[in-house]
Amino acid sequence: MSSDRAEGATPAMAQWFAAKADYPDALLFFRMGDFYEMFFDDAEAASAALDIALTARGTHQGAPIRMCGVPVSQRDTYLARLVRRGFRVAIAEQIESAEASRARPGKAPIERAVVRLITPGTITEETLLEAGRATLLLALVADQGKIGAAWIDVSTGMFETGLISHADLPALLGRLDPAEILHTGSTGDAAGREIDVPGGYAARCAMIEAPPVAAQARRTLAALFGVASLDAFGAFSDAEAEAAAAALRYIERSQGGALPRLGHPMRQGEAGLLAMDAATRASLDLLRTRDGGEFGSLFGTVRRTVSAAGARHLAGWIAAPLDRLDRLRARQSGWQSLLERPDCLPSVRAALRGAPDLARALARLSLAARVSGRLAPRDLAQVRDALATARAVRAALPGACAMPGHPLSEDAQALTAAPDLAALLDRALVEQPPSRPGDAASIRQGFDGELDAERRLRDDARQVIAALQLKLATRYGVASLKIRHHNQLGYVLEAPASAVDGLRSFPELVLRQGLASSARFTQPELSDLDRQIAEAHERAAARELVVLDHLLRTIIGHEAELAGCATALARLDALQSAASLAASGRWIAPHLTDDADFVIEAGRHPVVEAALPSGSDYIANDADLSPERRLMLLTGPNMAGKSTFLRQNALIIILAQAGLPVPAGAARIGLVDRLFSRVGAADDLAAGRSTFMVEMIETAAILHQAGPRSFVIIDEIGRGTGTRDGLAIAQAVLEALHGSIRCRTIFATHFHDLVQLAEALPRLRPCTMRVKSWRGEVVFLHEVVEGAAERSWGVHVAKLAGVPESVVRRADTLLRGAERAQAARAPLPLFAALESSDSSPGDQAAPSLTGASAWRDALAEVSPDQLTPREALELIYAWRRKF
Ligand code: ADP
Repeated sequence: MSSDRAEGATPAMAQWFAAKADYPDALLFFRMGDFYEMFFDDAEAASAALDIALTARGTHQGAPIRMCGVPVSQRDTYLARLVRRGFRVAIAEQIESAEASRARPGKAPIERAVVRLITPGTITEETLLEAGRATLLLALVADQGKIGAAWIDVSTGMFETGLISHADLPALLGRLDPAEILHTGSTGDAAGREIDVPGGYAARCAMIEAPPVAAQARRTLAALFGVASLDAFGAFSDAEAEAAAAALRYIERSQGGALPRLGHPMRQGEAGLLAMDAATRASLDLLRTRDGGEFGSLFGTVRRTVSAAGARHLAGWIAAPLDRLDRLRARQSGWQSLLERPDCLPSVRAALRGAPDLARALARLSLAARVSGRLAPRDLAQVRDALATARAVRAALPGACAMPGHPLSEDAQALTAAPDLAALLDRALVEQPPSRPGDAASIRQGFDGELDAERRLRDDARQVIAALQLKLATRYGVASLKIRHHNQLGYVLEAPASAVDGLRSFPELVLRQGLASSARFTQPELSDLDRQIAEAHERAAARELVVLDHLLRTIIGHEAELAGCATALARLDALQSAASLAASGRWIAPHLTDDADFVIEAGRHPVVEAALPSGSDYIANDADLSPERRLMLLTGPNMAGKSTFLRQNALIIILAQAGLPVPAGAARIGLVDRLFSRVGAADDLAAGRSTFMVEMIETAAILHQAGPRSFVIIDEIGRGTGTRDGLAIAQAVLEALHGSIRCRTIFATHFHDLVQLAEALPRLRPCTMRVKSWRGEVVFLHEVVEGAAERSWGVHVAKLAGVPESVVRRADTLLRGAERAQAARAPLPLFAALESSDSSPGDQAAPSLTGASAWRDALAEVSPDQLTPREALELIYAWRRKF
């Protein structure tokens, strides 16, 4: 906002222009009395987003000032809606009282200042956060061909960094799903390499104007965590340090200059994780479905957590499956140990149910310890209640967990955190303290003698008033005289209208309000009382703040221990969620190995199964991709269940490597290092690419990155181009996967001719979806069997879909004609398939699909129905001479 835009503004509007200039990207909530007002374009945007009235007040430079406002009391409700839509909101408060402003000479407006910037990635308020979902702020700094990334969950203190390649950015974004992204854009690295954030994330992005230089960034970080050098926490690259410092600076600015407690930064490579690219994630609906909901996602289907922190912990496991046998076995034995005794799991669940969100309460408290006016007594009670939960959970755990080496021993230990603090909070706090100090009592009677004394003074006022009322009624001779409290006048005497004349003779009584039936007077003794009571209130409130602050400091003194306890509670909830699934009897712990096994007996697609009216309607399927048969070629008509089967196996891998039970009768899985899933048309129309181009780009990614420990799931390669091209490409890809890459693969195709490759590729197993024809109707059995599909059932699917009978019949006739013609032709020459284990994908012979074309042309020229037997015989002789 340039200064000439502000020219001619009223003093208050001049304040607005100044604040807006500091926060041009944010909506400005401008406090005016009981409202936050928005002006100009802000008003327009907010009124549309919040569906509130847009009005106008006064004029500025000759045009009406557009304006809208929200009541202060409903601030959080409106903020939540704005933040969810990706807005940033700067909150300008009145930072002096109306009296103070009046006391100043001149006619300056009340002082206002922006005290807080609310952005999607920096919120800590309970009312604004989504309970079961992490809220990450991600900062990206480009440097020398790489990207330094730092991501922070301000609401829990989680702080991690990584150095990634530009190509890996979409995968990182897919995994973290950040609420807000800061990046250097084109101003980044010297090589001029911009950070190219995929279009779908544009709304969450903000620019880092000038990233701190590396040396400064390292000093800032080291100082923040009280170490001499950042190296204490790991070998951070310059770009990571810069990104981390940029994120911290942004958070600090948003919190009015303070930083909440943060865990020290942890470098997180991709090592140890199951790698998945963005396309794979997009095809699997892991945490959310494409329309953004949890329902229908893998997470939504397997979640049995009973607390918000537990839900976030479990979501973290599913979003970032591991490639580390030791850690996975630890998770598996963790939840299995909850099933050893039948009463253990139900009591752990009961104890955890509705556990307060300790990590988030702690983050808010640590901010409150640094910024005044941010303390919510409710958060103190959440710590108290979380500690009580922790003790109850500890008591419900198996007795053996106290033994060192038990899979739950560390969690059990963490649950016993801060016993003295727990006792202190129990004694100090009332059952349900308010969100704002002073709205109701927070501290129990009997905890602090001084507070009790102040409260007695305050509360005794009631008796004092009753006594005074009696005394004054007698003195003034009006029996019905009452002492009442009035908002503006304070304590007043209220007398019936009939007594007013008599009372006028007492000089100390001042008539302040005459109504039809009654009148109100002020009186010196009452004014004194008013002041005393107000002072007692103030002193009691001030004393309560002192006590609350003492509790706050004591909690902050136990911060690390409490953070450990919070993690243990969250982890145990995730573990009991896994155990609960397994307890249903239909989910089992997969046997995880270090080799290239993949044997699933009676596997199911958890989400499709859950959507069926009766779970038992789901047809379970085996998958055996043992090394000698690691490439499954799956044919079958549309709607037979191919995509479901493909995804089911991908989801089983994700669950297994999240350490969770899998929906199968039995499973042996050699850990997968990279999972590729290409199921369902991934039309990237927004990017202006054709389906075929997208398909080929994704195929190229697989061929470049997959290795012998990878798992590839492909649906219908080559469908976006002509049949011959498509078939040729599909064959070449299959040969490469089979020969040089040697990964486990399930490859679904409608090119039935590919089945012939089984003769040349020994580890390829053709399988098909069983379909049977029953009284002219086609029945999909959803069963995977070895062998090839007999025919394509497209015409039947058309009928199923409601294509008119006449068209279906015509298609059937055409199909049969074509089948007869094909039967009459010489069989297609077998592709020149090579089992070339040591050649690279690129240098294999192109398949030959030519031959017999002269034959075909000759045949196409005749119409058999119009030939006499004699002519037909002559034709045969003629062909015999020719060919
Ligand atoms: P395709 O990929 O072969 O076209 P889908 O995998 O989309 O077929 O499956 C079509 C429908 O069949 C699914 O929506 C699902 O309702 C049902 N289905 C698939 N597999 C099974 C199964 N194993 N058991 C029961 N129903 C299934």
